[in-house]
Amino acid sequence: MSSRIVLVVNAGSSSLKFSVFRADDAATLQLAARGQIDGIGTRPRLRVTDATGSVVVERDFAVAEVRGVKDAIRLAGAWLHERFQHEPLLAVGHRVVHGGAQFSHPLLIDAEVFAALEQLIPLAPLHQPHNLAAIRAVREAQPQVPQVACFDTAFHRTHPQIADLYALPWEYYESGVRHYGFHGLSYEYIAAMLPQVAPGISDGRVIVAHLGSGASLCALRAGKSVDSTMGFSPLDGVPMGTRPGALDPGVLLHLINQRGLSGADLEKLLYRESGLLGLSGISNDMRVLLESQEPRAQLAVEYFVHYTVKQIGALAAVLGGVDGLVFTAGIGERSSVIRAHILQACAWLGVSLDTAANARGGPRISTEGSAIPVWVIPTDEELMIARHTLLLIISGKGGHHVD
Ligand code: ADP
Repeated sequence: MSSRIVLVVNAGSSSLKFSVFRADDAATLQLAARGQIDGIGTRPRLRVTDATGSVVVERDFAVAEVRGVKDAIRLAGAWLHERFQHEPLLAVGHRVVHGGAQFSHPLLIDAEVFAALEQLIPLAPLHQPHNLAAIRAVREAQPQVPQVACFDTAFHRTHPQIADLYALPWEYYESGVRHYGFHGLSYEYIAAMLPQVAPGISDGRVIVAHLGSGASLCALRAGKSVDSTMGFSPLDGVPMGTRPGALDPGVLLHLINQRGLSGADLEKLLYRESGLLGLSGISNDMRVLLESQEPRAQLAVEYFVHYTVKQIGALAAVLGGVDGLVFTAGIGERSSVIRAHILQACAWLGVSLDTAANARGGPRISTEGSAIPVWVIPTDEELMIARHTLLLIISGKGGHHVD
């Protein structure tokens, strides 16, 4: 059987993550390797693991060798070529943070699409340029290989207009100031898993809590997003590792007008210095905070739990009831303590926690008698991107899916 490679790329400001999947003739995808180039521009390091998680390469590079995304793509490409030289590269799928209001599906990238994605840079200036730089670098290195853009926002385009609006003068909405929502590839993956893992709730009202270093929640009705806690940017909603979550805009006015903070100062404060790190003064990592005896570490954990519970309540109200809850991502998948705290506070919804199942990590962590079943489902955004990429290539649908 001949296999071909589908490469998944997730490019950020200082790191490039990639996953290598083998696609066989039956269009089945198997993970072959996951890699990461960290410290771009500071301390570049390539680390690759195989499908079992064993390290296959770990190598440091001089700063001059990996100055940006283009160098990182070249490096990853050279490694891939060496390791998978007899298997042709079928396509590259990219995680692209913003698809704006117009893109509700993944799409094959041509010059026109690329130009449209460039137009969206002002909506995600911290992420979109790196995603596009990766696309450009692959195009330069391998112009014949098709590339696919998969958006973090696309899955939420099904939400009703009321969940798309901010109560600002209408022209802001028209010009793109909308409630987009993010983590869409993760929610799409979970929605796709529900019919297998939890068929009893897959057609119902489900709240998914994606709790990682970035965190958000999504309300699903019959597998479609109807609302989510992140909005115009990935800053809104619940507190995160270094982001504050929802903040009274009056705080920002105060910081600008009374304290003289600039746009760059605010960006640093809101993206890098707040959230669990800002509150605790110790760490952005939930594991560190859970182990710490410092009162402010414990307060940061309580804050995280409190505002997650509050958002579950809000989304339950939006859905008019809840048929199931799902936890996913780093904290959601691995922290039985955080799940227990959150679920104890959700007892009013009829949730009853199965302590032993929770300690085991699920998959179902509610008791038989629980009014609402609760599940832990590991997410896989990379596999979602690989599936979309393969599907588009196989179906030959290069259409723009503008809607
Ligand atoms: P990202 O948003 O970067 O993809 P992840 O979903 O991988 O993040 O989540 C990473 C975070 O998950 C870490 O920063 C850490 O706080 C948290 N985490 C991982 N394992 C555990 C654990 N066993 N207990 C508590 N928190 C954990």
